[in-house]
Amino acid sequence: MAKRKCQECGEEVMGRYDKRFCSDQCRSAHHNRRNQDVNNFIRNINNILRKNRRILAGLNPDGKARVHRDKLLDHGFKFGYFTNEYITKAGRVYRFCYDQGYLETDNGWYTLVVRQAYVE
Ligand SMILES: [Zn+2]
Repeated sequence: MAKRKCQECGEEVMGRYDKRFCSDQCRSAHHNRRNQDVNNFIRNINNILRKNRRILAGLNPDGKARVHRDKLLDHGFKFGYFTNEYITKAGRVYRFCYDQGYLETDNGWYTLVVRQAYVE
């Protein structure tokens, strides 16, 4: 039988064939680290979404505005991140970062809007 190594410290693992860690300490260290990675990942995405929202809100103080893509990019806006999408019957796609939304209109221009209430 092949020798198994602890997934955390690399020591040889004794005992049941499906054991992956040499000790309880190594098992919990491994899982804690995994959780930390997931938490960091989620936190990073939340930060991007919040920053996107802040950028949109900052460029749209009156509830409606027209902004060029370059300006959004200059501020660090990340188009790949949004919280929800709203597609009108006419097929226009609004994307939102929480309450702040945008709709591409023409040649890199966007109309910014604010959603007053949460809609599924
Ligand atoms: Zn170990």
